[in-house]
Amino acid sequence: MSSVRIPTVEECLNGETKNFIEEAIDRDLEEGHYDHVHTRFPPEPNGYLHIGHAKSILLNYGIAKEYGGTFNLRFDDTNPSKEKSEFVDAIIENVKWLGADFGGKVYYASDYFDQMYEIAVKIIKKGDAYVSDLSADEIREYRGTLTEPGKEDPGRNRSIEENLDLFARMKNGEFADGEKTLRARIDMASSNINMRDPILYRVAHLTHEHTGDKWCIYPMYDFAHPIEDGIEGITHSLCTLEFEDHRPLYDWVVKEAEFEVPPRQIEFAKLYLNNVVTGKRYIKKLVEQHIVDGWDDPRLVSISGLRRRGFTPSSIKAFVNMAGVSKSQSTNEYAALEYCIREDLKPTAPRMMAVLDPVKLVIDNYPEGKTEELEAPNNLENESLGSRKITFSRELYIEREDFMENPPKKYYRLFPGNEVRLMYAYFVTCTFVEKDETGKVTVIHCTYDPETKSGSGFTGRKVKGTIHWVNAADCVPLTARLYENIIDEEKGVYNEDGSLNLNPHSETDVTALCEPALAKAKAFDRFQFVRNGYFCADFRDSKEGAPVFNRIVTLKSSFKLPAKQ
Ligand code: ATP
Ligand code: MG
Repeated sequence: MSSVRIPTVEECLNGETKNFIEEAIDRDLEEGHYDHVHTRFPPEPNGYLHIGHAKSILLNYGIAKEYGGTFNLRFDDTNPSKEKSEFVDAIIENVKWLGADFGGKVYYASDYFDQMYEIAVKIIKKGDAYVSDLSADEIREYRGTLTEPGKEDPGRNRSIEENLDLFARMKNGEFADGEKTLRARIDMASSNINMRDPILYRVAHLTHEHTGDKWCIYPMYDFAHPIEDGIEGITHSLCTLEFEDHRPLYDWVVKEAEFEVPPRQIEFAKLYLNNVVTGKRYIKKLVEQHIVDGWDDPRLVSISGLRRRGFTPSSIKAFVNMAGVSKSQSTNEYAALEYCIREDLKPTAPRMMAVLDPVKLVIDNYPEGKTEELEAPNNLENESLGSRKITFSRELYIEREDFMENPPKKYYRLFPGNEVRLMYAYFVTCTFVEKDETGKVTVIHCTYDPETKSGSGFTGRKVKGTIHWVNAADCVPLTARLYENIIDEEKGVYNEDGSLNLNPHSETDVTALCEPALAKAKAFDRFQFVRNGYFCADFRDSKEGAPVFNRIVTLKSSFKLPAKQ
């Protein structure tokens, strides 16, 4: 079995060392603030999820599971201009695929618009919110800076009656977009700019996916989110660090709304990948400019892209665990993600032969017309995967890079006069080569030694190189897609002219030759192709008889497992 075991998300979260979120929850339970734990994952349906969201999903779900609590999937659909039902469906699929059990019920923030409105009215009645006539630009201007306090809004001292009337008229569609807002009446001199009378509601005549044209006012995120949490009975609202400065406002809304069980916000650091773009807005650009094949292009680190490429849920869980949960921002190596998928597939993926850059090899002393059946184990680390029969005959294909006419020192593969093992078969010695007019090798000629058959117990001599091959008589063409990073964030996402700085080699499609069994691969079947890496049958493009495989990862790793802390 594999040498390094990947911990599961449960093991990581239930490990001896608790992360700071678990410590906070333990204290909350001990001190009696809560008697249970209820978390949620609250995506905005304005794009597909990415690897960073996987961290949030697995963290929220893992915490709920660990404490015997509940985990909600809730769409934060309070901004109708960017939201689409395509995204809702894809997100639900992704969350299920990752194994985060949300109990089958999907929640929508838009289902709470009535309650949000009622809470806004309640806050106005307490004298803690008012209707403003300022434009967005004016509000920004009045807000002040980090060093200067803000200026009071002329609407700040309106009577409660007038505010109630104006707010009702906002709701009834009497005002144009941007003409009025509802603002919290907190403190224009607060050192936290988020507390300088933030906007709670805006006028926006937009049709909403769920509520249609019922509303022409929509709540702002900072007002809506704590209310969504409160209504659902969320105890611990886990979010990313950029909301830390918004926490006083979160708490203000929770207090004003007077929830029986007030939810508590805790922030953690986002997951970032070095060199790889993760942000929704970059991925969106690549999709909208048709640079990639949709949101699930295997080059993307969207969850759908990772899935299509061939990553498994457990490899993503392992990666997220390795990244850990902390309060300080750090970045993670893509190589660590690759490490996790290799470790996951090593004992589970059958190992087959496919030649990515084929050149013919002829064994001149092997009888013409003869075919032998050889036994090939399916996985050297996992005997339970059994073995298969492969055919062998006089004409084969091998990898072009496994032959060199003038090899450097320590090249142990094929060159004139050298002997190597053909995997699962015989020793062959290169005798001569044929070339075309450009000097390119077209056929490699060899002789074989019948005594050296694999498994025959031959011990006469040893060879240093073993190479893979396919039988010319029955091999099948296969499209192999080889990938590189599409945009290197560190090298700059944009060119000087504002276009995206793309790696022109992000995808190379080659026609490989493979064992016939691979032509029957089903969508998402994963294999190790000897020496060439782990590959996954593309669920959209691969057909029986015309296989298309995405390379998930090569076999070589530069990644070093971090030392145990
Ligand atoms: P992006 O930054 O890619 O645009 P977002 O934050 O706008 O994503 P949301 O749909 O608002 O996406 O996020 C849903 C949840 O996922 C939020 O709780 C957010 O904090 C969390 N989240 C987003 N990005 C990351 C990340 N890189 N690592 C961990 N959690 C994340
Ligand atoms: Mg967002």
